[in-house]
Amino acid sequence: MVTIVQCPTCGKAVSWNEESLFRPFCSKRCQLIDLGEWANEEKRIPAQNQDPDGGNSAFEDEYED
Ligand SMILES: [Zn+2]
Repeated sequence: MVTIVQCPTCGKAVSWNEESLFRPFCSKRCQLIDLGEWANEEKRIPAQNQDPDGGNSAFEDEYED
């Protein structure tokens, strides 16, 4: 019995065994792509939390002074 997982990057079926070196990814390329996207998301999330109104408040405060 073989366990099949989907590559998180491209959705391709990957056999969960010792031949699939980059499981759950289908290839090293997909693994690197996923790591890159994860790093970008990590940068984006704190920025959104800091500016829930869209980032205009700092500019407006400066204008009123
Ligand atoms: Zn893939």
